[in-house]
Amino acid sequence: TCGICVEKCPFDAIEIINLPSELDEDPVHRYGDNAFSLYGLPTPEPGSVTGILGPNGIGKSTAVHALAGETVPNLGDHESEGEWDRVLDRFRGTGLQNYLESLKAGDITVARKPQYVDQIPNQFDGNTRELLERTDERGALDSLVERLNIRPVMDQDIDSISGGELQRVAIAACLARDADFYFLDEITPYLDIGQRMVVARLIRELADDDTAERSMLVVEHDLAILDLLADTLHVAYGEPGAYGVITDPKSVRNGINEYLKGYLDNENMRIRPSAITFEEHAPRVASRSETLIEYPDLTKSYGDGEFELHVEGGTINQSEVLGVVGPNGIGKSTLAKLFTGDLEPDTGEIDFALDISYKPQYIDIDQPMRVDAFLSSITDQFGSSYWNTEIAQPLQLDRVMEQNLSDLSGGERQRVAIAACLSDDADLYVLDEPSAHLDVEQRVRATTAIRRYAENHDATVMVVDHDIYVIDLLADRLMVFDGEPAERGHASPPQEMRDGMNEFLADLDITFRRDERTGRPRINKPGSQLDSQQKREGEYYYSG
Ligand code: ADP
Ligand code: ADP
Ligand code: MG
Repeated sequence: TCGICVEKCPFDAIEIINLPSELDEDPVHRYGDNAFSLYGLPTPEPGSVTGILGPNGIGKSTAVHALAGETVPNLGDHESEGEWDRVLDRFRGTGLQNYLESLKAGDITVARKPQYVDQIPNQFDGNTRELLERTDERGALDSLVERLNIRPVMDQDIDSISGGELQRVAIAACLARDADFYFLDEITPYLDIGQRMVVARLIRELADDDTAERSMLVVEHDLAILDLLADTLHVAYGEPGAYGVITDPKSVRNGINEYLKGYLDNENMRIRPSAITFEEHAPRVASRSETLIEYPDLTKSYGDGEFELHVEGGTINQSEVLGVVGPNGIGKSTLAKLFTGDLEPDTGEIDFALDISYKPQYIDIDQPMRVDAFLSSITDQFGSSYWNTEIAQPLQLDRVMEQNLSDLSGGERQRVAIAACLSDDADLYVLDEPSAHLDVEQRVRATTAIRRYAENHDATVMVVDHDIYVIDLLADRLMVFDGEPAERGHASPPQEMRDGMNEFLADLDITFRRDERTGRPRINKPGSQLDSQQKREGEYYYSG
């Protein structure tokens, strides 16, 4: 085993082992003969944040179309139009009854944040201010703009702002509305941990606002944030593209634990062959292996010192996975480019000549070329059984091989880019935000693939990511960036996980504990007893 999973690796195809009993019933909605069917619906609740956890393609948007009143579920009879009376009959006596009655009466207004914010510039011409002003139904826009730090891009054209900025603008546009039902399809892509916490707090406040009865529904793949944010959780499972089941609501802790365990207790359902486990207390103590590179203090600035990066010299060991954490705009990509030789430092000298395989944060592979042609141009291992098991399978590339690079979705493009990076023969692999756009299942598989690749090849890997679970599962040691985003950045030398996490989280003022049963990291409620105690003891991450 690779240390990520206990028994068998989740490398194997994720199969539904026993068919869900729900499938004996009629679905809530079916698109057509042999077309996708949805079983179950999430339950929005006034004053609550309801989470949905599960892979893409499993019917989450389909469910939301129904809850937004845009389609009337056909209860499996796709040849006739759905009728709300029949839907109501089906859900009478359940937690959905009240909601569906209001929906039928036309009393529900909806605000939503779409999943792929990168598409917003295609749909909107104008600047940030123009986009946001038309959404200001609660008079809360100023405060949202302030807290989401959107002010600097207010007069910029929407098609010129970065992914992280677009994400915050889209979230502000949704939360500024005055609605009964808010649906946010992923809130964390491109955001750093501090920004993720701000968004979670804003959603929480809207749910807790006593002057209105608002239901918040959030799909999210960053488990630490979902855990912090949601009151209840629906797990979604099934076979992407074929059918999806949305479970009855669970407590957030149980929902996430069952999901990680790969087994849903109430449903008596195995959804993955093996569990995903975290190392309880042990920060991985780095093995004292050979040094791969030693670099001196470095500086690099852009323009007239608009941004200045100071790197403290350090060493990267052969065959280690080095996690890299820090806020957006602090110089992480800049350091990666110094290492790759794409940038020259202003002071300090990089005297190593390493072959570096680099996956950038924003992936730009828009060539009119098929995925298989692209990947086979990178490695002559392409198609070998070794390459298939180590790379193609865990990254689920079989379904996209014949597509054109330019037609890929965000998550597909990410997986192809990770595969391309790992397929290259290099001394150092640098992956900038591999979790972006991946659903939770894909994250687990991609993390496993990267970890296994590193171990089987004695490969040295640097991974920049904002998902604490991904970093926890992957990293042997940690490199921490701090400073003032867009002004100055500082990079500490690589250090042991415990020290690195303490430095990083102290800066953010966040503490984590470990779930007793699964060992997974959980964010402590700010101001809670545990939070205060851990801060006093300086143990921000590994308590106990
Ligand atoms: P998710 O939001 O979980 O990613 P969706 O609800 O968007 O999933 O889609 C679930 C499945 O239903 C997908 O396989 C999708 O192709 C299919 N689907 C979505 N809309 C339609 C439609 N109008 N007709 C037929 N199939 C559809
Ligand atoms: P991170 O990867 O931590 O998000 P980056 O290294 O990409 O940060 O960027 C750090 C800062 O430098 C940001 O403010 C960014 O806008 C700025 N920057 C990055 N590349 C350039 C460039 N080529 N010219 C001018 N400024 C840049
Ligand atoms: Mg970056």
